[in-house]
Amino acid sequence: MTKGDRCFVEQEANEGILMRVTNVCSECYTFLPNGDTIYYDMQTCRYLCQKCKDELVDSMDENCNIVHKKGGLF
Ligand SMILES: [Zn+2]
Repeated sequence: MTKGDRCFVEQEANEGILMRVTNVCSECYTFLPNGDTIYYDMQTCRYLCQKCKDELVDSMDENCNIVHKKGGLF
């Protein structure tokens, strides 16, 4: 089990999600096509594309808390 698996639920975008919840990534607003792999962020209760999920996982500790922003100056 990788770190991100505890913080995100991997799902396939289907009509139910796309119509009822969202059809864009909550972070970068990329359009999420039907059948794409998307990720439900359990901390913030929103759907993200794979790219944003990967970036968030990089910033998270093992408890899914954001500990640093990639590219920060600190
Ligand atoms: Zn995104």
